[in-house]
Amino acid sequence: MRGAIDESRRRLLKTVTLGLTLVPVATIPLRIALAADLPLVASDDPTAKALKYVSDASKSGDAKPGTKCANCAFYQGAAGSAQGGCPLFPGKAVKAAGWCSSWNAKT
Ligand code: SF4
Repeated sequence: MRGAIDESRRRLLKTVTLGLTLVPVATIPLRIALAADLPLVASDDPTAKALKYVSDASKSGDAKPGTKCANCAFYQGAAGSAQGGCPLFPGKAVKAAGWCSSWNAKT
C-alpha cells in the first residue's frame, strides 16, 4: 500500500516539476508576439529625444557604423525581426534598424 502511495507521489511531483519547467518556455512565443504588437516609439517621444533615438541608424550622426538596435544588448526582438521591445522604452517597440545613445554591444 505504502509503495503505491510513494509511486503516486513521485508521479505527481514529476508532473508538477515538468509543468513548472515548461511554463517559461511556453510563454516565449507569447512574449515575442506581444513585443511585435507594441506601438513603435514616436519620434517626438521625450525619452527618444533624450536618447537621440532614430528609427534608422544610418540617419544618425552619432551612431558608429554597424551599430543598430538589432545588435544591441537591450534589444528584445527575435533574431531577424523588424522591430522589438527595449527596456528603455517600456510598452513600446523600437526598429531593428534603429539606434540610440544607450546602444551597448550584444555579447
Ligand atoms: S538601448 Fe539598444 S535596443 Fe534600445 S533603443 Fe537604444 S540601441 Fe535600440
